[in-house]
Amino acid sequence: MAEIQRRKTSTATIGGVRVGSNAPVMVQSMTNTDTADIPGTIKQVAALARAGSEVVRVTVNNDDAAKAIPHIVEGLEKQGLRVPIVGDFHYNGHLLLTKYPGCAEGLAKYRINPGNASIGRKNDDNFRTMIEVAAKNQKPVRIGVNWGSLDQALLTRMMDENSLLPEPKDAREVTMEAIVVSALTSAKLAEQHGLRPDQIILSAKVSGVQDLIDVYRILAARCQYPLHLGLTEAGMGAKGIVASSAAMAVLLQEGIGDTIRVSLTPAPGGDRTEEVRVAQQILQSLGIRSFTPQVTACPGCGRTTSTFFQEMAEQIQTYLREQMPVWKESHTGVEEMKVAVMGCVVNGPGESKHASLGISLPGTAEEPKAPVYVDGRLFTTLKGDRIVAEFIKILDDYVESHYAAREKANDKEEVGARG
Ligand code: SF4
Repeated sequence: MAEIQRRKTSTATIGGVRVGSNAPVMVQSMTNTDTADIPGTIKQVAALARAGSEVVRVTVNNDDAAKAIPHIVEGLEKQGLRVPIVGDFHYNGHLLLTKYPGCAEGLAKYRINPGNASIGRKNDDNFRTMIEVAAKNQKPVRIGVNWGSLDQALLTRMMDENSLLPEPKDAREVTMEAIVVSALTSAKLAEQHGLRPDQIILSAKVSGVQDLIDVYRILAARCQYPLHLGLTEAGMGAKGIVASSAAMAVLLQEGIGDTIRVSLTPAPGGDRTEEVRVAQQILQSLGIRSFTPQVTACPGCGRTTSTFFQEMAEQIQTYLREQMPVWKESHTGVEEMKVAVMGCVVNGPGESKHASLGISLPGTAEEPKAPVYVDGRLFTTLKGDRIVAEFIKILDDYVESHYAAREKANDKEEVGARG
């Protein structure tokens, strides 16, 4: 697989997790609980971390949320989870971070939105205060610009200046430029107020795929800060997943993006950890990182009139997902394994040969037998109604024989540690 050349950046450290330059592209997520609900927030952070989120962001929007932070960090520690917690601040971050030192100390990073921190309006005191607290506590900061809350004074000034040009640019172009200028001038100010360049991460989130690609290309060309990548307000279900994947894949392929978040809107009562799995899948599909064994399954067609092979693909995918927490601790490199489950003889044997392990099920009117391939060679042929169980046994044996036994991990769960 062609290697992606990552953009050169400084390297920030978020609670022990490195971001930028040659560090693995990091997966992060955000809770949607009321942060003041300490048990509820701990539960969701733990779920996100166990799903693979290497950093988790929480809203810090009022006194109760700020007071909850040390308890949340302590509660996670008690469960053996050392996932870095990031505080998301808007409007009153300067007040909360100074009033609650336990919050300022407990967080591993602060996210500051310059559009909501008084920059460009009366003065930059609120922004300066937050940066000074970060510098005092040696915490990195993400300067997170979002076009939904872009510094309006800056945008108005740039629009006015543009209108005076002999050939004014269109409004979209000026807006993209204003987003980049907001991020870069805020970063410069943060350095002036005491942060080191390697304590600054930037993001410039918009909700359109082409806009995101354009704005990040501009930002990447103009600075060496690590970039947090994400399509804001991506939406629900397939739309959110596809839009996020489309935008981020283009940028990641160009080496742009040091940490990613997929901002999916969960269905009511839906599973928040889906955004973590999608982020992992984007990175794994691009060959950037491996998280879990991959199942290649054909879509099925008129040659597969039964649902047997769909059910088998689902059972194997579920089995792999359930086994991964155990295998990850016990067998090095198992996440690289590829498993093919194919519906008939047309592409079945060929695709199976490309996988670590593959099975080609009989299509309609084919002889009822399923050849199994291991490392490209025919290993055995399964028949009868125990095909799934027998294939899973072969899968288990393959893991045992192909992936080295790992040393026993420490008793603490280092969800932030990455390979
Ligand atoms: S492998 Fe066979 S069953 Fe699957 S899509 Fe191709 S032709 Fe159809």
